[in-house]
Amino acid sequence: MLARALLTLLLLFWLQTGFAQKWVPPVSLVANSQLQSIAKLSYHDSLKTYVIEFNPELAMQAGPFVSAFHQAHEYGHLQRGHVNKKKLNQQGNGMLQLNKDMEIGADIYATEYLYLQDKSILLSMLDYLHTSAHEDLLHYPRKARAHRLDQHLHSLSSYSTQNVACRHRLHNEDESACTHVSDTGKPLHGSDYTPCLHVTHPAGDNVKVRNQ
Ligand SMILES: [Zn+2]
Ligand SMILES: [Zn+2]
Ligand SMILES: [Zn+2]
Repeated sequence: MLARALLTLLLLFWLQTGFAQKWVPPVSLVANSQLQSIAKLSYHDSLKTYVIEFNPELAMQAGPFVSAFHQAHEYGHLQRGHVNKKKLNQQGNGMLQLNKDMEIGADIYATEYLYLQDKSILLSMLDYLHTSAHEDLLHYPRKARAHRLDQHLHSLSSYSTQNVACRHRLHNEDESACTHVSDTGKPLHGSDYTPCLHVTHPAGDNVKVRNQ
């Protein structure tokens, strides 16, 4: 009985610590105490790779979840091709400030990415944007950011993605050789007389469906 209770406690502890573990971006994190923002995408010359720099003190003040969102946002700039190493090297320790569309794009990337990983990061970021008086981005005010994040979260939770059999038909872009042959024995593609029955996406289509 006692052993069982102990085991339950251990399990609960394990679950809680597991839950509290924050998401880590798939690029190296480099501490930089001179950095003027929580996180910033950089190009590391000697490592010859993109890294995310973080200011340990600012990251600690913001907390692990808000800090993780900032890292995902920076990673979003890289994934969306907003910057190159030359542009990044000119930034110094200042904050990476791109135009408004890019900042919105990086937030969208971070939100969709983290939604699948850990929703509590998104809720913490939303709370941070609502409560902090600190303006992070010059061209993208905190209130507008919070509003967009809120709307985006709402639409993500109203819809989910389902894989369904593809109903798109191939015409000139078959991945495999067409088995339709014309009356002269040549493959029909490009000049099909009958509609092609090959599917465009053999792995199925990912479609959005409204949650019940
Ligand atoms: Zn940004
Ligand atoms: Zn399809
Ligand atoms: Zn065909």
